[in-house]
Amino acid sequence: MEEQTLNAIRGLGHRLTGPRRGVVREMARASAPVTARALHAALADGGTDLATVYRTLHWLVELGMARPVVTGGAEHFELVSPDGHSHHLHCDDCGSLRTVSLCGLDRAVLDRIEREFGFQVAHHRLTFHGRCAGCRAE
Ligand SMILES: [Zn+2]
Ligand SMILES: [Zn+2]
Repeated sequence: MEEQTLNAIRGLGHRLTGPRRGVVREMARASAPVTARALHAALADGGTDLATVYRTLHWLVELGMARPVVTGGAEHFELVSPDGHSHHLHCDDCGSLRTVSLCGLDRAVLDRIEREFGFQVAHHRLTFHGRCAGCRAE
């Protein structure tokens, strides 16, 4: 994911500065969408300030490499995966957010949407709401 994104950015003719690389690296490493503050904390050693992290995130969104995931609280960001899926588990108790690769949408559903509405689906978002394992154990 990290290399794919960096190559795509290079392909568009953009320079890859230290902070840009750092933000992409940390986003690729995370198992869930991240906030600008969390990224800033993860990059603390590199001397990248919070304003630069915000600027870099919005720049990635403009390029179509990242997207915001709104959860009702702080805005989280994730890299756009090549297959266009965006699936998350959101715990309504603790607010945790986790990325999952499971998808219940098969081709038949997309075909039906196209037949009934004349709408061609390019990508979709799916958020499951409920209680996470940690909250259920309490
Ligand atoms: Zn929870
Ligand atoms: Zn999916």
